[in-house]
Amino acid sequence: MTTFTELGLRPQLVQTVTALGYAEPTPIQAGVIPLMLAGRDVLGQAQTGTGKTAAFALPILQNLDLNAYQVQTLVVAPTRELAQQVARAFQKYGRDMNIRVLTVYGGQSYEPQIRSLRRGVDVVVGTPGRLIDLIRRNVLDLSAITTLVLDEADEMLSMGFIKDIETILSETSAERQTALFSATLPRPIRRLADGYMRKPQAVTIQRKQLTVAAIAQRYYLVNQRDKLAALTRLFEVEPITRGLIFARTRVGTGELANELTGRGFPAEALNGDMSQSAREQTLRRFRDGRIKVLVATDVAARGLDIDDISHVFNYDLPQDPEVYVHRVGRTGRAGKTGVAITLITPKEEYRLRQIQKYTRQPIARAQVPTEEEIREHREMKVLEEVLVWLKRGRAKRERQMVELLMAEGYDAAEIAAVALKMSRRHEKQRPIMPIGPVQTGRQGRDRGKGYKKGAGKHNGRYDGVSRSSHESGMVRLVINLGREHGLRPNDVVGTLAYQANIPGKTIGKILIQDRHTLVDVNEAYAGQVLARKEPYRIGRKSFTIDLAA
Ligand code: ADP
Ligand code: MG
Repeated sequence: MTTFTELGLRPQLVQTVTALGYAEPTPIQAGVIPLMLAGRDVLGQAQTGTGKTAAFALPILQNLDLNAYQVQTLVVAPTRELAQQVARAFQKYGRDMNIRVLTVYGGQSYEPQIRSLRRGVDVVVGTPGRLIDLIRRNVLDLSAITTLVLDEADEMLSMGFIKDIETILSETSAERQTALFSATLPRPIRRLADGYMRKPQAVTIQRKQLTVAAIAQRYYLVNQRDKLAALTRLFEVEPITRGLIFARTRVGTGELANELTGRGFPAEALNGDMSQSAREQTLRRFRDGRIKVLVATDVAARGLDIDDISHVFNYDLPQDPEVYVHRVGRTGRAGKTGVAITLITPKEEYRLRQIQKYTRQPIARAQVPTEEEIREHREMKVLEEVLVWLKRGRAKRERQMVELLMAEGYDAAEIAAVALKMSRRHEKQRPIMPIGPVQTGRQGRDRGKGYKKGAGKHNGRYDGVSRSSHESGMVRLVINLGREHGLRPNDVVGTLAYQANIPGKTIGKILIQDRHTLVDVNEAYAGQVLARKEPYRIGRKSFTIDLAA
């Protein structure tokens, strides 16, 4: 085992990373740090989550001249989020050094950036477009740069930044040290390396080290149309502290987040359609735990460093095994264990085998929990919680309430039973969705197609959610209040059940949209809901309810 000290880092930096909990260098760090300390150009190839930032930041910090007046280091990153992440890392690793780091990206006002640059900055981290702006305005002088880093180069390539990068490279001294990091090395990136780097040393981290042993990989075989049902069932039993669901399309992320939320599992989407600030806000909330589940596309989640993800879900199987590795690598970081769950349809089984061959790691088949198992699990959790509270024993007021009821002649066990029942009311929000037997062969394919047709029936008025319910025996209704009016699923169940006088359990899926809400009601009761003469009310707001079809 190599240590950070053996790589040539000075004691102060070793101390800092040790304090951060880095027990030993990651493979990419072990390869890159000595080369960069020696001033060599480096071509580093490794997947997300392998510790590339420290691989370049630590040697740069060590070589920094703290008395210089000009910018010495430039890091170019594809997005604002990634730039901020790198800047934070520099602060973190250099916290005992008094370094000045400036992050620059589009959409920010120029003034503060210009002022900082005048005052003096050691490290600039920025996105290509804004860097070029600042160069053109003659406020960013790169002539004294000693080290230049291109982070996530393939991502910058796919975002169309190659020309910009060449412009930036040509603004710097040919004497500089250049390090390029990328998950993949497509031809244009190699050309860039050939054209602008001096005898770059390649450090490549082999794939098989990518999936970490600390990740439990499982798959569930389900019909396409049962995926959502399977996911919600897994959500019931998996101890998710922070979950990342990958969906193939941008639209898919929004729809899935909505569906999950409507079924009692709050989730939010992260995709390229969102504005920078909306994405940032969502990420921040995910990072500090206010959002527990994020539904993202590969592109949106790319390179983002979010620790402590307990579960990664592949709602769709990725086309490319490398993408699978990428996704799954988001969990099980920094010595923690993680769970990676993949939903696959019968047609996709062969692709799963390809992935296993590629990663050389088994993905175990598991069974979706049955209704019975979920019920048992729910009950067990209630009991566990009761036991905790019994131990705590701080329910004096409640005890007085019980005694009041007992004085009225009620039986203590009966009171307790009713209280437990009341505590479980929210479970109604999470109906256990039926799952059909897995369809294999021709039959499965045909049925799969039929479903997709139904589910894809989009209608602009309803934010792209299908109007007819997916469930048999349920009728989809629409309420003219939504998220913007502060509507919550609980309100809908309570109001409809009470004011239409129907049993709460006949109310199914609830999809709260911005300005309206879709709600499924058992077909036997839908007529009764629509027949009510008086207006429905939630608090002081009245609303109408109609057939969504
Ligand atoms: P990459 O750029 O390769 O995607 P990052 O540099 O963002 O990876 O690092 C991923 C995570 O691993 C970060 O949370 C970082 O703090 C952590 N990390 C980096 N190096 C080590 C190490 N040697 N030991 C433990 N954790 C590390
Ligand atoms: Mg990175």
